[in-house]
Amino acid sequence: MNLAVQKALNDQIREEFYSAYLYLSMAAFFASKGLNGFSRWMKEQSGEEVKHAMKLYDFVNGSGGRVILDALVMPPFDFESPQKAFEAALEHEKFITGRIHQLHALAGKEGDLATQSMLQWFIEEQVEEEEQVQKVLDQFKTLPNGELDALLGKRGGNAQ
Ligand code: MG
Repeated sequence: MNLAVQKALNDQIREEFYSAYLYLSMAAFFASKGLNGFSRWMKEQSGEEVKHAMKLYDFVNGSGGRVILDALVMPPFDFESPQKAFEAALEHEKFITGRIHQLHALAGKEGDLATQSMLQWFIEEQVEEEEQVQKVLDQFKTLPNGELDALLGKRGGNAQ
């Protein structure tokens, strides 16, 4: 595997784990406020980010590359309000989208078509990720926090 691409993929593994860490920190913030629906939603989101990291991990390993796990920085743990936390989540996803696009461009520059093809999934996933968070932000405009908390608590999946 091309070393520049390998380094960039390892950086992205770290970013996906950081995303998981950030959303878990938000989930803990919501739980501390008794907002268990928001908490459940974010915990679920955190789990999705671990899956993203592992998808990259498996790709690097399966492509003869070397996974090197970097340190994570401490995520914020306090937020002004639930809405502000979701605004921060949207900003973070936009940052991740930009990184994925840069990674795709780098793979192209290095002639790494397999990585480019794998990243196509992430490009499409990012559209969904941003859309999902934006949808919640739109709901803040019409629903009081308590009602939105109850609604988000219905999100399916493994989170408890
Ligand atoms: Mg992700």
